[in-house]
Amino acid sequence: MIDNKVVQKVINTKDDDEAALNTTVDIIKKEKPTITFVHFDQPDGVGHNIGHNTPEYYAELKQVDRRIGTLQQAVKDAGIADETIFVIAADHGGTGKGHGGKSLAEVEIPWVMTGPGVPKGKEIKETLMIYDIAPTLTWLLGAPLDAAWRGKAIKAFQQ
Ligand SMILES: [Zn+2]
Repeated sequence: MIDNKVVQKVINTKDDDEAALNTTVDIIKKEKPTITFVHFDQPDGVGHNIGHNTPEYYAELKQVDRRIGTLQQAVKDAGIADETIFVIAADHGGTGKGHGGKSLAEVEIPWVMTGPGVPKGKEIKETLMIYDIAPTLTWLLGAPLDAAWRGKAIKAFQQ
């Protein structure tokens, strides 16, 4: 979705989710970036090592939830909450200790959006997949969709 020529900074925290969080909080507060992508890797690690749909997996998701709260506070502290949309999603699901197949448990993702212009309390009933994120954000920004993309714009995200 994003051309590498326009990416200004890539920071690899080597699967250390706390380092990813702390680095991102610093950048948000100091630089007030236009677009920020953060990947928390540990749910995938727990899914592979212990299993998806296990108590340990859900405990890890609680850590992700806490980190998202910290990011939201950083955006408030930076004074950019009124102009920031959060897109919170997984890149895949899982079954047993794996993923990569085409079952719904593997391809369906949770996807939460919040921020200015995003309807509050609205639930999207259709199945959402990682492929739908780029077309949806592109559509919300009013830019043309690329015909080669697999996903679809989820227009229910707009009021
Ligand atoms: Zn994986």
